[in-house]
Amino acid sequence: MNRLFDCHMHSTHSCDSTATFDGLCKEALKQGLRGICVTEHVDFDDADPGYGYYDYYAYMEDVDRCRNKYGNKLLIKTGVEVTYQRQFEDDIRRFLSTYEFDYVLGSVHLIDHVFVLDPKYPQGKTKNEAYEPYWHEMLSMMESGLFKRIGHLDYIKSLRSEEYGEFTVEEWMPRITAIIERIVESGAILEVNTSALRKGHTEPYPGWAILKLYKDLGGAYVVLGSDAHSPSQVGLGFREVAAQLSQLGLAICEDDMFPSSMIS
Ligand SMILES: [Zn+2]
Ligand SMILES: [Zn+2]
Repeated sequence: MNRLFDCHMHSTHSCDSTATFDGLCKEALKQGLRGICVTEHVDFDDADPGYGYYDYYAYMEDVDRCRNKYGNKLLIKTGVEVTYQRQFEDDIRRFLSTYEFDYVLGSVHLIDHVFVLDPKYPQGKTKNEAYEPYWHEMLSMMESGLFKRIGHLDYIKSLRSEEYGEFTVEEWMPRITAIIERIVESGAILEVNTSALRKGHTEPYPGWAILKLYKDLGGAYVVLGSDAHSPSQVGLGFREVAAQLSQLGLAICEDDMFPSSMIS
């Protein structure tokens, strides 16, 4: 476990986290992780509670402070989790060309200005109307060329609707295959996000069937992220998930070992 990096977590520089930078670093050290990347939310839609919250310079102050304090034992990389929405591509592009990060993660959280896991999201929608725009946005994200690391690809499996029943990956495989093909073609890599394990799922985001497809279509590497919003969630489930990834033949990238072409 001591070679593992936690590449996805949030501190108080994200609007939905109460974890201090120190708290995240201390927990990572306790677990013997090799390094962390705190990927704060950056949102461009004023309907998002995170809109206007992020302050790059305040974030970098914490990075520098914690590198001085823990840097001899823990690698601390800089990162960001950008909420991708097609209509804000120009803003995202401007943001990414203004600020520098080691790690830029693209995620889809909102469709039509509504968080996809908000109970309001499925209201008045058929199953197709709820799921299709999510896969479509994910595909647009890949076509934008903005991201080389793809956050929680099947996040929408956490959508709860009595009307639709349980999420079944088979049903969406043609959509998912198109997305995975673009990921592999573009040299991007999938994030394996273990926060699904604390949200009642037995598999990470994305689940094993998608990860196997990624491998079959030529994907070789993944990054591992807990998406921790509190120190106790750092590195959650990494040992078990890492063992299963190795059985699948997928290699976990270490943040300082990425070929430069993989760093977006
Ligand atoms: Zn996310
Ligand atoms: Zn996150």
